[in-house]
This record gives sequence, C-alpha cells and structure tokens, in this order.
Amino acid sequence: MNYNTLAELLFPDVTKTPDYYENLYPKRILDEGAKVTRFAPSPTGFVHFGGLFPVLVGERLAHQSNGVFYLRIEDTDSKREVEGAEYDLIKVFENFGINFDESIVNNGKYAPYRQSERREIYRTYAKELVKQGKAYPCFCSEEDMLRLREKQEALKITPGYYGEFVKCRNLDIEEIKEKISDGIPYVLRFRSDGNPDNKIKFTDLVKGTIEVTENHIDHVLLKSDGMPTYHLAHAVDDHLMRTTHVVRGEEWLSSLPYHIQLFSALGFKLPKYLHISQLMRKDGDAKKKLSKRDKGAGMSYYISEGYPAESVIEYVMTLLNSNFEDWRRANPNADIKDFPFSIKKMSASGSLFDLIKLGDVSKNVISRMTAENVYNKLTEWAKEFDRDFYDVISRDPDFTKAILQIGRGGNKPRKDLETWKDAKPYMGFFYPEYFKYEDKPEGFDKKDIADCLDHFVREFDINDEQDVWFSKVKQVGEEHGFCPNIKDYKADPEGWKGNVGDVSSFIRAAITGKLNSPDLCAVMKILGKEESFNRIKKFKETL
Ligand code: GLU
Repeated sequence: MNYNTLAELLFPDVTKTPDYYENLYPKRILDEGAKVTRFAPSPTGFVHFGGLFPVLVGERLAHQSNGVFYLRIEDTDSKREVEGAEYDLIKVFENFGINFDESIVNNGKYAPYRQSERREIYRTYAKELVKQGKAYPCFCSEEDMLRLREKQEALKITPGYYGEFVKCRNLDIEEIKEKISDGIPYVLRFRSDGNPDNKIKFTDLVKGTIEVTENHIDHVLLKSDGMPTYHLAHAVDDHLMRTTHVVRGEEWLSSLPYHIQLFSALGFKLPKYLHISQLMRKDGDAKKKLSKRDKGAGMSYYISEGYPAESVIEYVMTLLNSNFEDWRRANPNADIKDFPFSIKKMSASGSLFDLIKLGDVSKNVISRMTAENVYNKLTEWAKEFDRDFYDVISRDPDFTKAILQIGRGGNKPRKDLETWKDAKPYMGFFYPEYFKYEDKPEGFDKKDIADCLDHFVREFDINDEQDVWFSKVKQVGEEHGFCPNIKDYKADPEGWKGNVGDVSSFIRAAITGKLNSPDLCAVMKILGKEESFNRIKKFKETL
C-alpha cells in the first residue's frame, strides 16, 4: 500500500505539514528548569472542587519556577460541551486567585487555546501518521463495535480493537476508495505495534515508578466527524504548546501506555507526568469518590457559602503537601506563594475530603486577616449573597470595622468566623435590625439580676479598660451575693447566689441578647454608653 496516496485520499483538505506547526509554535524561551503546565478541562458547566488539585499543582510548579501556566479548553466532544461554561470556569478560578498566563481570554503565542479551533492542526499530524503507515481508516459501524464489545465481554477478554478482532487494518486502497465514495463514515485508528506480553517501566512524578503493559489496541485517533479523541489532542497540544509537566487526574493513568506509544510515533518527546488521585470522601467506614451531588463538590458552593478564597486554597495545600501545616505554623503571616511547594511531599494515595478540616483552616485564615481586609471581603460577599446584611454592615464602615477588630491581632486571635455566612449570627446583635433577646440566664432571682444590672450601670465608665471593667463586675456581684472568685465559689457553692461569671452573663444577655459573645467590655465601648444602657433597661423589662 502506498501510504502517501492513502493520506491524500483521506486528507485532501490538509495542505500544511507538521514542520509548519513546529515553526509556528517554537520551543519556549524560559529560564533553565522553568516548568510549563496547563489545566485542560472539558467545560461541562460544573466546576468540580477536585479540579482545584491539579490546578494548584500546575500553577505552583509553573509559577514557582518562572514558567508558564496555561488553560486549554478541551471541547472536542460537542455532546458534553455547555455554551459559555469556559468563561464561568475562568471566573471561578480567578475568584480563587488562580490566573492563567495564557488562555482563551488572554491568548498567548500558542493560540488557539480551544481545541475545537485546532482541528486543522490535529488533522495535519493524523495525516502524517497515515503517511508513515501508523494510522488507517476504520469503517466498522457503531453496531459492529457494540457486537464486538459484547463478544469480548462474553469471552471475558480485554475489550477493544486488536488482534483477531481487527477488520479494517489491512483494507487495500481500492476498498477504502469505494467505501469513501459510498459515503460510509469512518474513524481513523492508530496502528499499534505493541504486545500485551511486554511490560514497560514508567516513572510518574507522584505515583513513582510503575510497571505498565504495552498498548496493543488500535485506538481511535480521529472520530467520524474528523475531530480528534482526547489522546491525539493531548499528544499534539502538549507537544506544540511545549508543556513540560502534565498534571492530570489518575483516571488517565490507564491510557498512559497508549500515550507513550503515540508520542513516540509522532516523534515527540514525552512530557513528565503527575497523576493526581481522585478526591475521596468518607462514607461510614468506606471511602467514596466525591461526586457531583455531594455537598462541597462544586466550586460555587465555596463562593456562596462565603469561604474566603484563601481558606480554600490553604486547605487544598494542606492536602497536597504533607509539610504545609508545619510551614504555616512557623510562618503564620507569610504569603502562601512563599511556601516551597514540592512534588516529593505529595501523597501518591490521594486525599480525603473533609469540610470540618476546611472549617478549622478557614477559622485560622480569617483570624489572621486585618479587620480592614475582613471588612472588604465580607462586604463583597454580602453584596452578592445577603443584600440586607450588606446594607446594614456597610452603612457605617468604621463601626463595622471596630466590631471586626475585637480580638484581632496578638498571639491568640479570636476564631469566630469560618465563613462570611457566620458573620451575621456572630455580630448581628450590634445592629438594631438584628438585635433581639435570644437567651437568658436561667435559675436566678429576677430581682437579683435587676439589682446587679442597676448597680453595674452606676459603676460603669465607658473609658474603663477591660481589667477595671471586670473588677467592677466582681465588686458589683459581691455586694449582691455573687462570689467574685470561681475557686472560692466552688469550695462553697451554697454560701453564694452564684459567681462573677453569672453576673457577666446578666450583662451579656442584656447587651447582646445572647449568652455567648465577644469581649463585653469591647462590645460596650463600640455600642456606646447610651445604647448599652438602653439595652439593659429594656432587658429588665423582659425579666
Ligand atoms: N480534558 C481532560 C479532562 O477533563 C483533560 C485531562 C488532562 O489534563 O490531560 O479530564
């Protein structure tokens, strides 16, 4: 068979050669050791949280080495594609502080970055494979393939187009011409020369050295619509876009033997691979894949719940690098980008998804922020997701910032907020719109509560600092039969009506409407004397 004739017959539309693209997309000029990575999603309209793992790994590897991190939209499967989804995806990642150096919106030298616009490129390389006798047209219909699969399943053997099951591998040119002129649809298949008895060693940078079986299946390179399968597109794109490190989900590991063969057939250097394990969640004692319907599976969840982007990224980093948490403890205020991310510290077995752990991480992240920063992020979130709250907290920014300042700074900052959604229940009582008497101290004589509060009002001075404030509370309580010292109280509970903690709870319930609140002295300073006294007065009426 003259393969050149076959190539011209199959690809009369293709006039360029691989050399043309090799010149158009030359090697990148980068620093020694700079890595080129990419995120290559199929835009289905749903941005899975698990996607953040390869994204963050790719982003860190590239940017830490002065390399390039780019986005490639893999939309060759028109059945899965959702209109506009790629722009939403870019926005979502931007929201989490992840920016692509090259993408469909800020095209770089290796454009186009959308696979559906690279059809001619794939076809050029496919034609080249035909010319070299490494690919051939296959006219087997979908029903033929279905029957083949059923037969192989019944025989319990590897499914696929190979060995004795191959029908179209050796058609002669006349037969091919005839089928084409009869309008029979066809796919282009790879002519594999692999042998399933051969094992090859391969080193994945995350999984380590593994042994895989050589590919012997004649996989599809081009579908009947002339568009490439993932495999051909991956090889051509990652080669021409000069990717050095392919970071992708481990579901692709099984296709690796084919990819190794394909890169070699195309004369391409194989990039380095990092296969990232699926994100799992606990399901009783078992582990399950985090599926689309699970809470927290979509990235939009984190945005609407009000997790700061920093918290989510920090959480993912704790899962990606085993030494991250130690680093964070030693460098509480350092920029996360200063963390020396390392492939060696990645676990080959993957991560367990845990919203509780994310919550803890997030509390720490928020507790380290300045009040100004919290204010900006909180109002930005509320503007979109809780408009009423936004109107209330942005009415007097200084007032809100003073509230957010409580317990901030110092070695042990308060950790009240996990998400921005937590802000309203935490600090709503400061604002008349949300203030209500929710909880009251139980088991005390109403008169005792009222007497303590009246006495406290007489002693109170807005300029008192916390220690003076508290000593006044002790003194007031003692005069009304409440022990100023918890230890003494415990030694003789019958001798007292209660203790200083109870007196504080009377004031707290009066001022905040609750039995838990941030530092009361600070709260009263922010509310002011008049409002504080007013609340105490109204509270007594509710007793
Ligand atoms: N489009 C493929 C996917 O979404 C990309 C895999 C890769 O990164 O190569 O799974």
